Amino acid sequence: MDLNFFRMCSPLKSLGYCMIFLVFGIIGVSYDAVVVLTLGPHLLDGGAMTLLFVVLLALFHVLLVLLSWSYFMVLVKDPGSVPANWKMLPQQNVEDDNSVVSSISVVITNSATTNTSQGLERKPIGYCDRCQNGKPPRCHHCSICQRCVLKMDHHCLWVVNCVGAQNYKFFLLFVLYTFLETLLNTLVLLPKFINFFRGVKHHSSSPGKLAVTFLAFVLNLAFALSLLCFVIMHTSLVLSNTTSVELFI
Ligand SMILES: [Zn+2]
Ligand SMILES: [Zn+2]
Repeated sequence: MDLNFFRMCSPLKSLGYCMIFLVFGIIGVSYDAVVVLTLGPHLLDGGAMTLLFVVLLALFHVLLVLLSWSYFMVLVKDPGSVPANWKMLPQQNVEDDNSVVSSISVVITNSATTNTSQGLERKPIGYCDRCQNGKPPRCHHCSICQRCVLKMDHHCLWVVNCVGAQNYKFFLLFVLYTFLETLLNTLVLLPKFINFFRGVKHHSSSPGKLAVTFLAFVLNLAFALSLLCFVIMHTSLVLSNTTSVELFI
């Protein structure tokens, strides 16, 4: 019996669509806590603090537009697919990541022997059995998308898409802008959070508003810390021209 355990990964794609609603939910809660409940009510106070709140509001909205744009781009942009019937040219030279020129003919010569119903068949190493197509260097088969992706980094559930050669730039920008936005939100909400534990009560604070502010603070702090790790990790990957997949194989 032909069992393919990678097919079990397919439902993860459906789970990814729920993540889109989760992202919009987190943005909505943060917008309510930061703009409507914290910065907005002080715009008519006057003085130097009002100017600071205007700057913070402008920064919040600029980052929100930038992260929404990069999120949309990484969501809809094809990560990079292999053309049908793709083959390596025997005489083609490929420069690998360490700038060492190697001949593809070496790869073609090194063939893998595969057992099929017709008997033994020789296939080039750069070949994907599941796509039944050639597999260029640094290309990987995604078990969730069920296809090969050029310079695949990883399959991201948050963007319901693979991150590969053509949308990696937008993924990096999304991570960076989201980190800056969550950091800004955490810093804006921090005084309210401290006042809450000090027992300082604001006359306009209702339990509902406090709950939204508290939830937004915890979510933004958690995302800011996680995304800081992502920013550091992907900066190091970019500097060494490595993908997340290549790091673990
Ligand atoms: Zn494949
Ligand atoms: Zn994928």
